[in-house]
Amino acid sequence: MAIHHDKLAYGKLASLNEGVSEDRLNNMLDLLNAESGEICDIHVHTCFSSDSKEDPEKYILKAIELNQNYLGFSDHYDYDYVLWNIPAKMPALDLREHTLSQLKKKYADQITILNGLEVGYSKEAEPHYKKLIKNGNFDYIINSVHGLKDRGDCYFAEFFKGKSKEQAYSDYLNAVYSSVIADFDYNVIGHIGYVARNAPYKPQELFYSEFAEIIDKILKAIIERDVCLEINGAVGNNSAKFTPDTDILERYIKLGGKNFTYGSDSHRVDSYFRKGEEVKNFLKSHQIYGTYVFEKGKKIFVEF
Ligand SMILES: [Zn+2]
Ligand SMILES: [Zn+2]
Repeated sequence: MAIHHDKLAYGKLASLNEGVSEDRLNNMLDLLNAESGEICDIHVHTCFSSDSKEDPEKYILKAIELNQNYLGFSDHYDYDYVLWNIPAKMPALDLREHTLSQLKKKYADQITILNGLEVGYSKEAEPHYKKLIKNGNFDYIINSVHGLKDRGDCYFAEFFKGKSKEQAYSDYLNAVYSSVIADFDYNVIGHIGYVARNAPYKPQELFYSEFAEIIDKILKAIIERDVCLEINGAVGNNSAKFTPDTDILERYIKLGGKNFTYGSDSHRVDSYFRKGEEVKNFLKSHQIYGTYVFEKGKKIFVEF
């Protein structure tokens, strides 16, 4: 935490104090604080997601080892797939809630565990999510587009069959826009650019310049709704730095956006906090000095 880091920094600098100007000392202090600041990983999947087998406790131990104060679990909840008749195992929410609350208690004096959920967006699923979120006990909701009706998940080749890059990415981005203006309460728009993670095109990247109009529409709607834009550390097999890539993130900042969350999108503990430091450095270089976490829907700014 900031106070703890300040003390730590002063302690480390005490012996250097003699002969060092106050400005220089403050600069060094800033640097030390920056190095020990925290960017919170709130996009993590566990065995409660159909595509992960990971034990939630392993992430907690890893986060404590990294001296972090927050960790957010965001298992998949794909009611869009249920409606589209795509086989998807839904999480056992009661068991999950029980497991997370036990872990939350067990580690209460070491770390704050957040109970999030990643819902797979589709227009048809909106009423279901509205009810689920209203009656649920979630700290936050990540709203993510993973696929389209009759096309399936854009991680698979089937999604792109017979479509040009322009068509496939535009279809995806139009769905993302619908997700931003969705009729249910969510906190974060997840991984814009997911479509490009495993797409068959060359170049594969979702460039802002190629889809400027629809991306601007999305980013402006995010700002207007006052929700957070996620920087996701997973990029699949394309060469983007993050999802979304830096050109889109820079455009969001230019439009006045400053509310970010970070998530590694880990499905195994090995990739926990993937690109965490790079995301932090990217944001700092754009004068953004923290990301958000949520407790019972309440937005909390955590400084680096
Ligand atoms: Zn996702
Ligand atoms: Zn995810």
